[in-house]
This record gives sequence, C-alpha cells and structure tokens, in this order.
Amino acid sequence: MKIAVLPGDGIGQEITVQSVRVLKALGLSMELEEAPVGGAAYDISGDPLPEATLKLAKASEAILFGSIGGPQYDTLPRAKRPEQALLGLRKQLNLFANLRPSIVYPELVNASTLKPEVVSGLDVLILRELTGDIYFGQPRGIRTVEKGPWAGQREGFDTMHYAEGEVRRIMHVGFIAARKRGKKLCSVDKSNVLETSQLWRDVATEVAKEYADVEFSSMYVDNAAMQLVRNPKQFDVIVTGNIFGDILSDEASMLTGSIGMQPSASLNESRQGLYEPIHGSAPDIAGKNIANPLASILSAAMLLRYSFDQEEAAVKIEKAVRKVLKDGLRTADIYETGTTKVGTKEMGDAVLKAL
Ligand code: NAD
Repeated sequence: MKIAVLPGDGIGQEITVQSVRVLKALGLSMELEEAPVGGAAYDISGDPLPEATLKLAKASEAILFGSIGGPQYDTLPRAKRPEQALLGLRKQLNLFANLRPSIVYPELVNASTLKPEVVSGLDVLILRELTGDIYFGQPRGIRTVEKGPWAGQREGFDTMHYAEGEVRRIMHVGFIAARKRGKKLCSVDKSNVLETSQLWRDVATEVAKEYADVEFSSMYVDNAAMQLVRNPKQFDVIVTGNIFGDILSDEASMLTGSIGMQPSASLNESRQGLYEPIHGSAPDIAGKNIANPLASILSAAMLLRYSFDQEEAAVKIEKAVRKVLKDGLRTADIYETGTTKVGTKEMGDAVLKAL
C-alpha cells in the first residue's frame, strides 16, 4: 500500500498529522511518503504542484490530501495559486468520481440547522462526476454579441456536454457503491430542459438494468435540491454531473452541521484515489490546535475502503470516531454544553486510544 501524504497549507498540516498517526496505528503494511503541495510547495519551489509531488502522487495508489490556500497567495497569478495543485492532480490522475458521504452522528444531531427528526440517522452518499460537464466544455469565453437586441454588448458562454462513456462509468461507480450500502440510487439531471441531461438519463436508465438488485430512480435537480432539505433520508446514493453535484454536495454537507466532519474521495478507473476533508485551509484557526481532525481521519477510512478494499480497517476507524463522539469529546466547531472541549492533537490521541 503506497500512500502519498500531501498536507498542504493552514490546518491541512495539523489535521493530516493526526490521520497519519491513525493509519500507522492499524498495523497494516503501508508505505507513506510526504511531499509539499499548494502554497507550501509554492513557497519552496515557486510551483504549487512541483514535478516531484506529481510524480509521487502518480506512483501512489492513494493520496491523503490536507487542504490548500491562504490569503497570502490570493494575489498570485492564477497558474501559481495553490488551488491549481488540486485541479492539476484531479486532471493528471483523471479522478472523475467524487464521493461525498454525509452522515449525521446521533451525538451531533443538534449541530444541524434542520430539525433533529429530519436529519437523525441520515447517511447519504453524493457521487459527483468531476472531470466533465460545463466546467470543462469547449467552446467557452466572453465575446461581443453581433446581432439582436444585445448587439455590441459582451456575453459570456459555456458548453455543457457529456459523452455516453462518461455517464456510464460514473453510474457503475454509483451502483457498485449502492450495492454496498442501502441499495438505492437516484440519478439527478435536468432532462426536461437540457439535451445533455436527456442523454444522461437515457444512459443511467440503461446501466440500471445491469443492477436489478438496486432500486433506481431519476429526479430533476431542482426537485432534488428541495427534497434534500425536506426529507433527506429518502436518499441512499445520489449520482449527478459536475455542476449539479457541486451545488448539491455542499447543500448535503450542511445537513450534518459541521464542515469539520466531512470526508471525501475522488477516484479514477483503476481506483487510485485522492482523499481529503471537504473543508479548506481555514486560515482563521490555523496553527492554534483547534481544528477538527475528524474529517481528515474519516478520509483516511475512505482511503482504506476504496483504494485498498480494507473494509475492516475502514470500519475500525469509523467506529473509533463514533466512540470518541459518544465519550463526549468535541473540538470547538462541534462543541456544545455538557461535552468536553479538546484540541486537534487531543482529538487525535482519543481516536488512537479508541482504536
Ligand atoms: P474553509 O473551509 O477553510 O473555512 C470555512 C470556515 O470553516 C472557517 O471559519 C473555518 O475556521 C471553519 N473550518 C474549516 N475546517 C474546519 C475544521 N476542520 N475544524 C473546525 N473549523 C473548520 O473555507 P474558506 O475560509 O472559504 O477558505 C480558506 C482557504 O481554503 C481559501 O484559500 C480557499 O481557497 C481554500 N480552500 C481549499 C479547499 C481545499 O483544499 N480542497 C477547499 C475549500 C477552500
């Protein structure tokens, strides 16, 4: 098991240390190698994704990623910004499937802005296609309108498209995941308006026939956005395209209350994956030992599950996290009266002890 460890910037450094401790404590045979990425890499080499880091990532089966970015890099030219490292890794490794589970732990049910009865017991997986759609379609740009009522003015335009094969491969990832979970899959599109979505729905329906054991449905994206806050527990796995997934996955993550609890995985066809918490580098709390490391630790569990098929080890980590929450330990972001506030390192210590 070869794992590249890319902690990145801000709290990425602090939380990744805790996940590495957890991975090492499992007693599995693994090789972990660390490299700089994002602003940290730019500071050393002038490049947010240095050749050596990219080489290590390509040679590893999995990447444990922290977070990148910071206000000191905001004025750099776009190509030098820390975010380019993440986009570069996704593109270079063809990480087309982005998995974001949203789980509401019983102990944190009050952290959500929704009523406890709506979210308690929630466990939904959003699968977002990550390398296609309107975010990458050509042509795109800003041009001058030649004719009609807006002639002479500037207009922005983008192109939405999906090839059958792109839809098919993400659907297979979704159905395989659904089989291991609640055996329900909902494909989300806008086929009443968009041709791209019409093809998406046709292909999704076709692929569904290969998975008769999984209950399949399709839903329009506007309805899905509404259903996610009305009755999110109706969903098990949601599969959708890049732009709809971008929006719905952020909506779903907030059902759980804290960004510090949300892991994610981005996989390619050979199940090589990049695993990271969904939050950023949180410059406002960096270096203070108060960041929640659980999103990163849960990302390490996903890494074992999806890139290495180490289900037992993944469950061990998830159970340890649950135990710590049950014991009443909380970082500041999930703290409530009656619980015990701990720092980043202390939370890591507690997970290790529970393991
Ligand atoms: P953020 O996710 O870093 O922070 C948003 C808020 O959530 C902050 O108040 C922060 O303190 C809090 N928070 C985030 N993670 C937390 C944790 N583990 N524990 C406790 N609190 C936590 O988003 P932002 O402030 O918009 O962005 C900061 C920087 O991160 C920017 O440079 C942005 O570009 C970058 N960013 C990177 C990624 C990534 O690396 N994948 C994702 C989003 C943003």
